[in-house]
Amino acid sequence: MPVVPATDETIARAAEALAAGRLVAIPTETVYGLGADARNASAVAGVFAMKDRPEFNPLIVHVPDLATAETLAAFNAEARALANAFWPGPLTIVAPKRRKCGIADLVTAGLDTIAVRVPGHPVARALLQASGLPIAAPSANRSGRISPTDASHVAAELGDVPDLILDGGPCARGLESTVVSVTDDSPVLLRLGAVPRSEIESVLGHPIHLAKEDAPIASPGQLARHYAPQTPLRLNADSAEAGEALLAFGPDAPDCAGASINLSPSGNLAEAAMRFFAALRHLDETGSRRIAVMPIPEDGLGEAINDRLRRAAKAR
Ligand code: AMP
Ligand code: MG
Repeated sequence: MPVVPATDETIARAAEALAAGRLVAIPTETVYGLGADARNASAVAGVFAMKDRPEFNPLIVHVPDLATAETLAAFNAEARALANAFWPGPLTIVAPKRRKCGIADLVTAGLDTIAVRVPGHPVARALLQASGLPIAAPSANRSGRISPTDASHVAAELGDVPDLILDGGPCARGLESTVVSVTDDSPVLLRLGAVPRSEIESVLGHPIHLAKEDAPIASPGQLARHYAPQTPLRLNADSAEAGEALLAFGPDAPDCAGASINLSPSGNLAEAAMRFFAALRHLDETGSRRIAVMPIPEDGLGEAINDRLRRAAKAR
């Protein structure tokens, strides 16, 4: 098993592996990523192959700071304001790609925009520092499946594919980054995620709309069926039926004869977000015929959790 605790020594090994064109799984505050040197087309092709990821789905490039991000992307005043407010942290900014930025075309799927993020997780930051490389990293799961929020999830999903899986513990946020496109006068939300919409709106000083799913600009992370377990889901359930597992939320969870997990008995959405993918993964492995999911409030992080639930529930 390539899972190793993240230490100075293993981070240095991971940096060498990236520089040699190999893949490394990395903890971030959102979910675990499968990282490659973003300048190395064949390494990036390996990421697409390992994930069975459609090649029209571009990758996020992780960089150590805003100054480095601006060598890859042209930021306007609003992009800079968002970066200053949320970086390091779980916000991805899509902006016009600079020509000759050195990033492999495959990373951006041939688009003239690029998605960049400065992660906050100390291990991801240390690896960016040690390698000196821009790291292209999608979530470390097979395309369409549940995102990994723990090193053991990556091992279960991708086995020995990465050279190393750096174990940095469970992800504190547990949901993917929020993706905002800032390419012309009016920023657009491409993906709901770990930064709630309201926090972005308060930095911008105006409302921001979610891109229409059939718009050409929309993020492929918005693919209709995504983040999905093998077991079917039943949303907005008040209780579990015979043979169902229960994904509960809040203080009023009903009893359940089968497997059951409460995302947050106190009704805290940040806690629910942090535990969400691991809970889905766990209930998926219980052999239940279906997973009944209690309603989650639509405010704050609840909007992104409900987005993931709707996509996970889409019929195959
Ligand atoms: P993930 O696979 O979880 O890392 O998701 C990355 C997300 O960023 C996907 O939803 C991508 O479609 C989105 N993304 C990356 N680059 C771009 C881009 N240039 N334009 C629009 N969306 C992008
Ligand atoms: Mg993903």
